[in-house]
Amino acid sequence: MKFLPALIAIIVLVLPLVTQTASAQPVYKWRLAMSWPEGTPMLHNAAQRFADNVRKMSAGRMNIAIDAPGKHKAPLGIFDMVRSGSYEMGHTSSYYYKGKDPATTFFTTTPFGMNPTEMNAWYYYGGGLALLNKVYAKHNIVAFPGGNTHIQMGGWFRKEINSLKDLNGLKMRIPGHAGEVVEKVGMKPTSIPPGELYTALERGTIDAVEWIGPANDEKMGFHKIAPYYYTGWHEPGAELHVFVNKKKFDTLPEDLKTIIAVAAKETSLDMLSESFYRNTLAWEKMQKEGKVKIRTFPKDVLDAFKKANDELLTEFAAKSPEAKEVIESQKTFLAKARVWTKITDEDYLKLR
Ligand code: CA
Repeated sequence: MKFLPALIAIIVLVLPLVTQTASAQPVYKWRLAMSWPEGTPMLHNAAQRFADNVRKMSAGRMNIAIDAPGKHKAPLGIFDMVRSGSYEMGHTSSYYYKGKDPATTFFTTTPFGMNPTEMNAWYYYGGGLALLNKVYAKHNIVAFPGGNTHIQMGGWFRKEINSLKDLNGLKMRIPGHAGEVVEKVGMKPTSIPPGELYTALERGTIDAVEWIGPANDEKMGFHKIAPYYYTGWHEPGAELHVFVNKKKFDTLPEDLKTIIAVAAKETSLDMLSESFYRNTLAWEKMQKEGKVKIRTFPKDVLDAFKKANDELLTEFAAKSPEAKEVIESQKTFLAKARVWTKITDEDYLKLR
């Protein structure tokens, strides 16, 4: 016990140094604007999970407060708010900003493109992440993949589609690039706010609607009025993104930069798992209720979608050298990846 006074003396001397070091580290109180309404299954969860993990991994050195569109009023304006620095961070999806820069479009998904496994391989090992940041650096944004919906369903239709001519003049809620694809084959894509979709479908203002997958679609109630549920082609694994204002990101210490990158990656992979899990349960429930008729689009419809998509991608590639680089990078990787997917996933799924 004779060492006790010496030990106490050391603690008394060293303790202030430790606390001083800890308190000398700045605490970052950042704000994140998300595109999703408060409480949206999976999507809001993903933003919250990212913020919580950053706070825990940084031992409270970075606290991120999340604002939903109810507060910031600009669900599709995350790009501008993060670029300008009015929010340090955002949780959104790259394809909302094709009007700002066509090269941003296909970082979310490409019709007939990569599935989530192929997409992750492209992002994390096939140059996708570097390309994402080459495009976004011009806009003062650092971007990370930040959540994946898994393969989305092709949508709810009031009437069965037996051939391409059944699509003629059909009004469907289907936004973005896929909307342009269906327009090219004679449909009328419309953009209606989520809160008004059920009524629009019920009253026949629209004939069809695509949303996400069973877990989110079930809550919207579409299956009660449009029983034909088509399998997907247009969003084969839509990726969400974490945006960070680049000037502010560049001032962070290296460990916080890494924490943000790791938390975003974890969120991306976690949301893919959560989406798969919740869709599995929601689809089981829908099947038990017996009101949903699952269908795949006929071959002439899929051929027409594919042709229109290929033409639009060529047009898109002509809009900017960066858009061309993204499209070609994905295409080149997918050509190799799909050969492998076919002899692994596809062959495995054929086993009985
Ligand atoms: Ca969708």
